[in-house]
Parts: sequence; C-alpha cells; structure tokens
Amino acid sequence: MLYFKKIALKYRIMNDIINIISLTLDSLNKQKKIANPTNFETEFYKQLQKTDLILEETEEIKEIVSKLSTTEKKQLTSDITTFRELSLILSQRVSNQTIREFLKDFSYFISSSIDKTMKEDIDKVCLDIAKNPETLMDSEVLRELRKLTDRRINNDKKLFKEKTSDVKKLIGFLGEYINKFLVNHTSTYSDISKLKEEIYSLELSESSLKDLEQIKSDLISSIDKFETSLVKTEKNIIKNQLECNNLYEQIEELQHNLDKAEEEKSIDFLTNVLTRRAYAVEIERLENEFKIYDSNYALVFYDIDHFKEINDMHGHDCGDSVLSTFAQILKNLTRTGDIIARYGGEEFISIVNYKNKMEIKNYLRRVKNIISNNRFVYNDIKINVKFSAGVAYRKNYNSYEETIKKADELLYTAKSKGRNKIIIDNGEEV
Ligand code: GH3
Ligand code: MG
Ligand code: MG
Repeated sequence: MLYFKKIALKYRIMNDIINIISLTLDSLNKQKKIANPTNFETEFYKQLQKTDLILEETEEIKEIVSKLSTTEKKQLTSDITTFRELSLILSQRVSNQTIREFLKDFSYFISSSIDKTMKEDIDKVCLDIAKNPETLMDSEVLRELRKLTDRRINNDKKLFKEKTSDVKKLIGFLGEYINKFLVNHTSTYSDISKLKEEIYSLELSESSLKDLEQIKSDLISSIDKFETSLVKTEKNIIKNQLECNNLYEQIEELQHNLDKAEEEKSIDFLTNVLTRRAYAVEIERLENEFKIYDSNYALVFYDIDHFKEINDMHGHDCGDSVLSTFAQILKNLTRTGDIIARYGGEEFISIVNYKNKMEIKNYLRRVKNIISNNRFVYNDIKINVKFSAGVAYRKNYNSYEETIKKADELLYTAKSKGRNKIIIDNGEEV
C-alpha cells in the first residue's frame, strides 16, 4: 500500500514538473527567448515558485545560502532560487589558500618588535581565521583585526615619540657643545671631560638604543678627539706662554732702553737741561695752557757774552764746564712748571710763569747777580761770565712765534748796547 502511495506521489510530481516545463516553454515563447539551458533554468524556477512544489534542489540551495558569510548574505537582494545565482555569489569568495597567505603577511606586517605580547595575540586571531576562513569578514573578527592594527599604530607612535625625544636630547647636547667650544672659546680640559661624562650618562630609551647609540658614541669619539687636541693645545699654550713671558721681558728691556734714549734725546747731555727738540714739545704744552687757563709766562732769551773767547783762552773743555755751570744756575733758580732749555751753543731760553710782573724782574735780577757776582771755576781757572738777555711777556703778543722773535731782537739790542744787559719788552733794563 505504502509502495503505491510513493508511486502515486512520484507520478503527481512528474505531472507537475511536466506542467511547469510546459508553462516555462510557453513563457519563453511569449518573451521570444530561446529555450537554451540558462533561459530555461531561470524561467523554470520562476514557474516553480508559483506552485507549492518543493524540489530537492531548492532545499539544497536554501541550505547553502544559510551557510554563506554575513557579508555574502548582505549582498543578496532577493531569494536565490538557482544554482547559477548561488555560483555568482560563491565565485566572489576568496580561496582559503589566499586567506592563509594573507594571514601570513598580515601577521608579519602587524607584529611589533617592541611589544612582544602582540605576536601571541596576532597568532591566536590568525589561527582562528585560518580554521574558519569564511569568518574573515565577520564583524567580530574584523573588530579583532582592527584592534590589533590600532595597537600597532599606537606602538609606532610611542616609538616615534621616544626617538624624537632622544634625538632632541642629543641635539641639545650638540648645541651646548657648539656653544661651549666654538662660540665662547673658553672651554677647558675639565669642561670637556664634564660634557663627556654627561653624554655617557645620557639615558636613551630602549627603542633608540640600536640606532641612536651609534650617534651617541660618534659624538663621544669626536669629543675624545677634541679633548686630545685640547690637551695638545694646552701644552702648546703653556709653551707659548713661556715664550711670551720671555718676549715680554725683552720688550720691557727694549722699552726701558727706548725711554732712556728718548730721555737722552730730550735732555742735553752736557748741560742737563732740555734740548731744543724737547723744548719745542714743552712750549706747545705751555701754549695750550696759556690759551685755555690764561696763564702768564715770560720768555727769556740768554746768550753768554764773548763765549768764544772763553773757549779760545781756556780751551773747549773749560767752555763746556762754563756752559754746564751756567745751565745749572738757571735750573736752580727755576720753579716747577718753568722751563729751561739749551737753544743753541751758548744760548739758553727760560720760560718763567708769573702772577705779577715783579716776580719776573726779581727772577732776572737774581740770575744776573748770581752769574755776575760769582766767578766760574774750572780746575784752577776762575772766570768772569757775563750774559745778555731779551725778555718778552707772552700776553703782549698774538703768538708764541712773535714772542720769541721779540725776545731774540731784544737780546741783540742788549748785545749792541754793550752786552751784560737784560732788556725787557716794556723798555726796562736789568
Ligand atoms: P757774543 O758776545 O756776540 O755772543 O760773542 P760770542 O763769542 O759769545 O759768540 P759767537 O757766536 O761768536 O761764538 C759762540 C761760540 O760758542 C762758538 C762756538 O765754538 C762755541 N760753542 C758752541 N757750542 C759749544 C760747546 O758745546 N762747547 C764749547 N766749549 N763751545 C761751544
Ligand atoms: Mg750765540
Ligand atoms: Mg755768545
């Protein structure tokens, strides 16, 4: 009985299928489509859906569709009814082999050398995916992969930050290095040793140890070189310093000799009063004082009378002695700030500062008395020495040149008037 029921069912199904085939062919005909396998299959399943007939293939398709991944399911716009539609979805699937290769590369790229625990986590996720490759696009799996990627990015950021800070540290030291040694030039051996110690103790982060440690050791070795050259330089400096001290002493000695020579040039060796050249310098200073402070001075021009005769009668050495004594007397009577100079052979000039003219007259009288009333002694020879002089007060003239010219003229007047006379520009005689 059951056998007959089964046969009847099969027969009904057969009839239904024949009906559907006939409907399919009609529909294709109406649509003017050729009844090739593709068109036929599509149209056949369309007609089949209109019936309540359920075929084995339909069940199979449903089962396969239920096993599709979430993403694949999302791609479905309508129910899949044919194997062809199913094959279109499945054809887009990446092969398990490709997924495994991707996982291998992903694991390699995402691993971080500074975060050892990451490798274990990556391996765990990749292993899970490799076991069920179709879960690759599941949101849970994708979230895991994203987490790993973020972790790697954060590790990189941290590493970058640490390296930047280490580079900053080294650059900071370089800056100090340049400042100390190149700009100030004040570095000493101990400064450099200190800097070297500081660089030695400079702590670099783990991540920078490999690459920046090289820069650090390069820096230390260049400082080493600098240190060696500085020690050498310091030795040279000490050596040069000794040489400098030596030279300095020599210069001092030369300067002393030069001063002496200068003094000899300005002091007449015979009479020990200013030479004419030194007098020129002094009179310039005095002229300035006269112009600025309105100071008064008188210029006295002396010339020993008949000096040639002294030379002729007692010899040149005697003449020298007379010159020296004459100058000494003038010097003794001259106050600080006044000037005595040998102007020529037996000619002398004195510049005498005064507040009132009486001082000058007294001075002239004193000079004349001392020279005229005493006899000059040379060996056993006693000599009477007379002189003539012309006197001009600076303030009576427009310039020093006019003043000396006047004094010189008056000296010659004194000579022509019989010698042994001092003539002042106001007409007075001493
Ligand atoms: P007057 O009264 O006109 O001035 O006659 P004077 O003989 O003094 O003048 P004069 O110009 O005829 O002679 C000056 C002499 O002074 C000539 C020169 O040989 C001498 N004489 C110049 N310098 C020196 C010197 O340094 N030592 C000596 N011993 N004699 C000198
Ligand atoms: Mg003369
Ligand atoms: Mg003379």
